Amino acid sequence: MYDVIIIGGGVAAFTAGIFTSRRGLKTLIIGKDIAGQANYTDAIENYPGLQEVGGFELVSSIRQQAENFGAEFLIAEVSKVKAVADEFIVTAFDKQYKAQSLILAYGKTPKDLGVPGEAELKGKGVTYCATCDGPLFKNKVVAVAGIGDIAAEAGLICAPFAKQVFILSKTDRLICHPALNKALFRKKNVKLLPFVQIQQLIGEGKLEKMQILDLKSGHQMELDVDGLLVELGYVVDSNFLQNIVKLDEQEQIIVNADQATSYSGIFACGDAINSSYKQAVISAGNAATAALACYDWLMRRQGGIGLTSDWNQIKRLK
Ligand SMILES: Cc1cc2nc3c(=O)[nH]c(=O)nc-3n(C[C@H](O)[C@H](O)[C@H](O)COP(=O)(O)OP(=O)(O)OC[C@H]3O[C@@H](n4cnc5c(N)ncnc54)[C@H](O)[C@@H]3O)c2cc1C
Repeated sequence: MYDVIIIGGGVAAFTAGIFTSRRGLKTLIIGKDIAGQANYTDAIENYPGLQEVGGFELVSSIRQQAENFGAEFLIAEVSKVKAVADEFIVTAFDKQYKAQSLILAYGKTPKDLGVPGEAELKGKGVTYCATCDGPLFKNKVVAVAGIGDIAAEAGLICAPFAKQVFILSKTDRLICHPALNKALFRKKNVKLLPFVQIQQLIGEGKLEKMQILDLKSGHQMELDVDGLLVELGYVVDSNFLQNIVKLDEQEQIIVNADQATSYSGIFACGDAINSSYKQAVISAGNAATAALACYDWLMRRQGGIGLTSDWNQIKRLK
């Protein structure tokens, strides 16, 4: 029986693992892969204390830190979570693991474009996070695939840095907020390529060009680009939770300020929760909160006093 099972293999899961195992909790982390979305980027430039770090490198180092404090890590996909009396039963690859508490850190996955060349060029010019990677395209030619608000925002993020931003649409417009649309096409270096469909991504070791189909004429053409931002939204598979915790309409886990979910003993953190902003440092921060709140919950359940907080003794200076 574990004190806590953490579900996920990204920044949030391993950060939570550092804090639970350092508090002496018997911790099992179960992740489908190592690093999650951080695998999509070779250069994280905004993680405090590190000038530039590869996503996998960052998460591997956080994992090492968690394991140094005693956390166990299992690469497996969780297919079921069940609450039975005072414990949780987690099924992964047909084996069952028991714990007194859970921390959910299963993140989210950007939707793929689904064209040849995409898999090979992910993180090599093909990216899925404008906030994260937009500034990497300074003085470069970038294309945006997507027509919604997030695509318009991606164009706006890139425009101040990029030499040229192409917005590719299968129609002659974007379906986004009018204010975003206006702001986007006011930028001199942003151009809409209407009635086109991306067919293939081409490049040796990095994205160099895209084969696109002109939907009106039926002609194929090539567009030279340094970067492609795929802005089609994200997918989350939370079926394994079997509705045990409350989710919002975007399938994000609803948490309170202490990262507690609607089910007692289950905490959640990282990109899987209903937070407005999703970045590695934000995931790490709320994962630490989830882990400490989980520790506090376990201690109190066992009749202890929980975590003593020295900051609630703060008095105002007269
Ligand atoms: C292209 C790109 C570039 C980015 N660049 C930056 C950047 O420069 N700076 C920055 O701060 N942030 C960046 N981000 C965002 C950052 O990567 C995420 O905010 C962060 O990875 C979220 O961490 P997480 O652990 O919450 O979730 P994720 O990274 O999504 O990890 C979730 C983990 O859970 C696992 N999992 C899911 N379901 C199951 C299951 N059923 N069983 C077991 N395991 C499961 C997944 O395999 C994965 O390991 C970028 C994101 C992308 C996509």
